[in-house]
Amino acid sequence: MHLPASSLELELHRLPLEPASLLRRGGVQAQSQAQPLQGLAHPHASALKTRTQCPACLSASLSVVYEEPYTGKGMQAYLARHYEGHAGAAADGGVYALARCNKCSLVFQRQVPEGALLEEIYNSWVPGTELEREHRNYSLDEYRYLAEQVQFIIQHFGLAPGELDALDFGFGWAHWSKMAMGFGCNVWGVELSEERARHGRSAGLRVVGLGDLPARRFRFINTEQVFEHLTEPRLVLEKLRDALSGDGIIKISVPNAVGALKKINEGKNFGALSVNDQMPIAPLEHINAFSHASLVAFGKEFGLKPLRPSLYRLFNSASGLMQPKNLARVIARPFYRHVFPRTTFVYFVRG
Ligand SMILES: [Zn+2]
Repeated sequence: MHLPASSLELELHRLPLEPASLLRRGGVQAQSQAQPLQGLAHPHASALKTRTQCPACLSASLSVVYEEPYTGKGMQAYLARHYEGHAGAAADGGVYALARCNKCSLVFQRQVPEGALLEEIYNSWVPGTELEREHRNYSLDEYRYLAEQVQFIIQHFGLAPGELDALDFGFGWAHWSKMAMGFGCNVWGVELSEERARHGRSAGLRVVGLGDLPARRFRFINTEQVFEHLTEPRLVLEKLRDALSGDGIIKISVPNAVGALKKINEGKNFGALSVNDQMPIAPLEHINAFSHASLVAFGKEFGLKPLRPSLYRLFNSASGLMQPKNLARVIARPFYRHVFPRTTFVYFVRG
């Protein structure tokens, strides 16, 4: 299948803005108090495209979770703060509308930016790359966590690291890629922001386009903070699945929106949410708001199922265990992530 290059290209500009957080946790399952969608008025929204089907499973059976015009007080306050005064008025004719898919339970923004507005948001609204670099200053614990993930993957396949081909999709500032290369893996990357792609090349990454991926090649595909941004996530996951080896693993890690959606379902306005709760459902950017269940359902659409790794392997790839804080984290994470999973970090394998 051929991807619509223009929209995908724009989508890929927005890849990881948040540092990989050690603290992202699952919350309680959101209650569905949604009302049926019929009869909903859609004000003029020329700069925004309306998604009428679930972007994950294509179901047209949707319920309204939340609606607020972009001219609303809470939205305007969010836009002013989040974009540090750089937000234009292009979205003002539209509505921040969260819909819930009645089939796969994904919550998503129905009205999403496209074309010129998408470009405007990522080129003019989002504060500059200098600031972003600042944010990307990883701590020791964050690098250690990346190292844990890379060791886990190498150990899983039982191959020499040099025999392992990995793909970092939307590699951003190449933190994961550089770690995997440090462990001896062969790493390819897709990243359409030219500045970041240059950075990746200078670090030794083999930078390619999504359309150029070899079939069934990669033992591991890393996607960190990518799928929450994509207008058409199915097009991307299908391509990545096709590039995965028969025994390969694809990691999808996205913000967990369960906590934020629970508060929205309890009647809170978007503007009344904390900054941390606004993040997973950020207007115009985090347009797909996953829970563990909806992420697993999305993988299933493409014949993927969660890998349930052994605790031994998960613990064995962890380091820094002598510090009590790390020890507690390292012991707890395999349970909440893989044994009784609630998180939106899933290793998928072919079903
Ligand atoms: Zn769905």
